[in-house]
Amino acid sequence: MSPPPTDVMEAVVNLCKRRGFVFPSAEIYGGFRSTYDYGPLGVLMLRNVKDAWWRSMVQLRDDVVGLDAAILSHPKVWEASGHLATFADPLVDCRHCKERWRADHIEGACPGCGSTDLTDARPFNLMFKTYVGPVEDEANVAYLRPETAQGMFVNFMNVLQTSRKRPPFGIAQQGKSFRNEITPGNFVFRTREFEQMELEYFVPPADGPRWFEYWCAERFRWYTELGIPEDQLRLRPHEPEELSHYSTGTSDVEFLFPWGWGELEGVANRTDFDLKAHATTSGERLEYFDQASGERYVPHVIEPAAGATRSMMAFLIAAFDTDEVGGEPRTVLRLHPRLAPYKVAVLPLSKKDTLTPLARQVLAQLQPHFLCEYDETQSIGRRYRRQDEIGTPCCVTVDFDTLEDKAVTVRDRDSTEQVRVPIESLVDELGGRLRL
Ligand code: ATP
Repeated sequence: MSPPPTDVMEAVVNLCKRRGFVFPSAEIYGGFRSTYDYGPLGVLMLRNVKDAWWRSMVQLRDDVVGLDAAILSHPKVWEASGHLATFADPLVDCRHCKERWRADHIEGACPGCGSTDLTDARPFNLMFKTYVGPVEDEANVAYLRPETAQGMFVNFMNVLQTSRKRPPFGIAQQGKSFRNEITPGNFVFRTREFEQMELEYFVPPADGPRWFEYWCAERFRWYTELGIPEDQLRLRPHEPEELSHYSTGTSDVEFLFPWGWGELEGVANRTDFDLKAHATTSGERLEYFDQASGERYVPHVIEPAAGATRSMMAFLIAAFDTDEVGGEPRTVLRLHPRLAPYKVAVLPLSKKDTLTPLARQVLAQLQPHFLCEYDETQSIGRRYRRQDEIGTPCCVTVDFDTLEDKAVTVRDRDSTEQVRVPIESLVDELGGRLRL
């Protein structure tokens, strides 16, 4: 029995605040313009989302290498990429209440006051501009990157020469990006500071379309494998008029958010646009030379570009559930074990001195293998409920019998089933259940 969608959104935002996933930034000062801070559980889960991506995109492959490029970036990068000239949203002002809106987000009337007295749309550049060094003049302008992708293009030759890779190969990067969004909102769906996970996959030009299809399927599968039901996910090919001028194909992986379909990731065939643009602007050759065949070419690029913070929110919404256990309502996050902040909670049945040393021993035995929480206050039922609510897949209870039989109770989050397991085989038992 799932709750209706609007309640889900409210419940998830609430849970995030109450349990320490996500806090409004600078809350003691009244918050700060749709910025958010990730709390003790959020930092674990966001890291898990990024690690799951890295595992799938880098660790399990031999054709992708990593990169971590600077956030402060050279203006030439954004001149070449086209961001300085065109990375803009059309804006309108309401003459009545003076609010500013994205022209493509409203339908002829101000969403604030309802007035139709709006200015014509004007472009507004979304990049955050700053100055490097003590002098604030045009010669010292720098931009906070609005995407991680350009770091991969400008380092193309560095990576090619040092990694011994040849097309088809990819460069993967995760990190913060910044966009001065006009209308941030829907919690962490759209913020001005956010995290991206991007792959630039360089291929021989003729193979572009085939690799584009491959990455669309691969990226769709990543979300379903981590627990998003297929009926809440779709791959939406862009209409011809939506396509960037250089792209021969783009499909978005979309999730059914409580307010409707929203993009989690864009997969684009960017052709040779980026490498050629940087080659022209920098005067450097950005090409691949195949020594065996004597062939020289500019690779085409397939780019799966995902948001880490936005997908964390989708994983939370998809995992949120309510049911009844022993006649009591419960909230449970049915997160994939790989994404759950804690994998195991160690819970001594009572706070009595007799159980604590053994429970701490069990904790110490598990910690090198799994991220664990230790909790010894309140009734065991309430402690199970707390763990269900933050998505901990397994609870390990140390009780008075443990002192005699050297076994503990392992409780499963989803089924609430409990089994007795000898301490000496606990690591194996949990490893089998969690399949990390
Ligand atoms: P949108 O249409 O939602 O503005 P976009 O098409 O501009 O997104 P891309 O430039 O393709 O987005 O960025 C790739 C991914 O980065 C997006 O799919 C999304 O997951 C994430 N992302 C982009 N902008 C934001 C933002 N302001 N806040 C959070 N995540 C974002």
